[in-house]
Amino acid sequence: MNKKVLVLTESKNGKLRNVSFEALTVAQQLADGGEVIAALLGTGVSGFVEEVNQYGPDKVYVLENEELNTYTTDAYVQALTQLINEVQADVILLGHTAIGKDVAPRVAAKFAAGLVADCTGADLENGEIVFTRPIYAGKAFQKKVFNQGKVFATLRPNNVELKKNPVQAEVIPFQPVIKDLRTVVKEIVRKATSGVDLSEAKIIISGGRGVKGKEGFEPLQELAELLGGAVGASRGACDAEYCDYSLQIGQTGKVVTPDLYIACGISGAIQHLAGMSNSKTIVAINKDPEAPIFQVADYGIVGDLFEVVPLLTEEFKKALV
Ligand code: FAD
Repeated sequence: MNKKVLVLTESKNGKLRNVSFEALTVAQQLADGGEVIAALLGTGVSGFVEEVNQYGPDKVYVLENEELNTYTTDAYVQALTQLINEVQADVILLGHTAIGKDVAPRVAAKFAAGLVADCTGADLENGEIVFTRPIYAGKAFQKKVFNQGKVFATLRPNNVELKKNPVQAEVIPFQPVIKDLRTVVKEIVRKATSGVDLSEAKIIISGGRGVKGKEGFEPLQELAELLGGAVGASRGACDAEYCDYSLQIGQTGKVVTPDLYIACGISGAIQHLAGMSNSKTIVAINKDPEAPIFQVADYGIVGDLFEVVPLLTEEFKKALV
């Protein structure tokens, strides 16, 4: 095999994203005696080398460049294309994040290569790379086999168990030529959200139309903060303007795979399930015992969320003292 596997790492709010470590873990499996190459893009990113070294790269390419500090499609496409040519990568792994979803198909098209999007895993089977990805809104899994040419893949966050393999990788500065940018980011205005990134959260407390209003999210927020989790929502809740669309989980929202998903006042429409049914443990709180969400739930609580959620919070407070 001896593949060269390149991982495009990503940072957010001054921290490397967990999905980058997951991609490096997968890269170690796929390289099979070849090379794992990590790429760090932006300014001040050489500070991440030590962390990246925990996941077994052979080489770390550091692309310290002002133009890569804030994501723009043009700059990242140019930088990644030049880096792939430089290192002659066979497999290119990215997170299935906003950046990964934008840049991967564009660069794959430049190399006339295939892209397997939204993978939940990748393995070597008889010398061939086999990617696993959900289909039919997460009801089934498809295996895609690649045995020749370059291949790109984006990995869904929270699906790979991290495997550390501390090394001292060779650190190589690389300066791509970035020009003719069509967009310039002048300012980033962040929405006020809890500190936990929804797509990588280990615990999500989600609210649906059953929360009945903006204030209805408050008990969910309190529970999420207590557990170090994030708040999510159904489209029903977003459409009703109880919360921002950035919280929407589902087919047309974010796809999440937390360890614990607590659905409060969510009926369990197929479009919602598409975004959360692969969560490791699902708890549903709903007044209606016939609500479809109970069909995917590991634990179901038939009851009023405004009674159940504060009770859960109280119990967790006692347990966490
Ligand atoms: P409802 O279906 O109205 O359910 C509310 C639930 O709350 C009910 O089950 C009720 O019993 C329960 N309830 C009410 N009061 C209480 C209480 N006090 N305590 C406990 N339970 C209570 N939806 C998504 O979520 N994500 C998507 O990405 C998405 N994409 C879509 C894409 C398309 C093309 C289409 C057509 C639809 C999409 N939808 C999506 C919408 C989806 O079909 C549903 O309409 C939506 O998920 C319903 O939201 P809900 O469960 O919050 O509301």
